[in-house]
Amino acid sequence: MLKENLISVENKIQEACLRAGRRREDVTLIAVSKTKPLEDLEEAYHLGVRVFGENKVQELVDKYDSLPKDIEWHMIGHLQRNKVKYIIDKAAYIHSVDSLRLAETIEKEAAKRNITVNILIEVNVAGEESKFGLMPEEVDEFVTKIAEFRHIQIKGLMTIAPFVENPEENRSIFQRLHKLSVDIGSKNVDNITMRILSMGMTNDYEIAIEEGATMVRVGTGIFGARNYSKE
Ligand SMILES: *Cc1c(COP(=O)(O)O)cnc(C)c1O
Repeated sequence: MLKENLISVENKIQEACLRAGRRREDVTLIAVSKTKPLEDLEEAYHLGVRVFGENKVQELVDKYDSLPKDIEWHMIGHLQRNKVKYIIDKAAYIHSVDSLRLAETIEKEAAKRNITVNILIEVNVAGEESKFGLMPEEVDEFVTKIAEFRHIQIKGLMTIAPFVENPEENRSIFQRLHKLSVDIGSKNVDNITMRILSMGMTNDYEIAIEEGATMVRVGTGIFGARNYSKE
């Protein structure tokens, strides 16, 4: 099943790239493996997947320790400050930076280890109350502040679009995040780039790619439905 799913997702990514006149290699597929057992990740690994996304610190650390070291791990979930130290040298990217205090903690922990951490800023484009993320109008000032942190590299923006029946409804959300990244990128702030746009999940990744996503985070479409009742 996983193999067929992966092929299907890959085909849809390629078709979306074609429609948008984009190159396939400019879009990274992140296989979101949260809640899934190691066997599923191993199977995906053997099918060639090397980029995985997790949303819980403990789960990311456990899976990191158990799987081959050529995997690139992405922390895509809300991150508590007291847990930063556990993933700071394991996550290739932290997608969910949305407060100055969190950024300060990342800076401090990265400085201790003398490493640089790649982060994305999470933006709550739709303004949903239930969601984490900065409001779009807050991002500019936030970027300027974090740009001074020597052990953090801002690489772009991330958003979680609302769950909608018709993914077309999220097109404008993706357009707004894209525009925000272009606006901020054009200011040429030292130490930051806006090359990464992490947007699009199983329901809407094709639209996100049409609107400029460079990372799509696909869970259900690859691994099947999640079962939270076992947790
Ligand atoms: C779970 C999750 C995904 C993947 O969701 P699917 O709908 O299963 O593709 C993507 N991004 C984030 C931040 C998530 O928490």
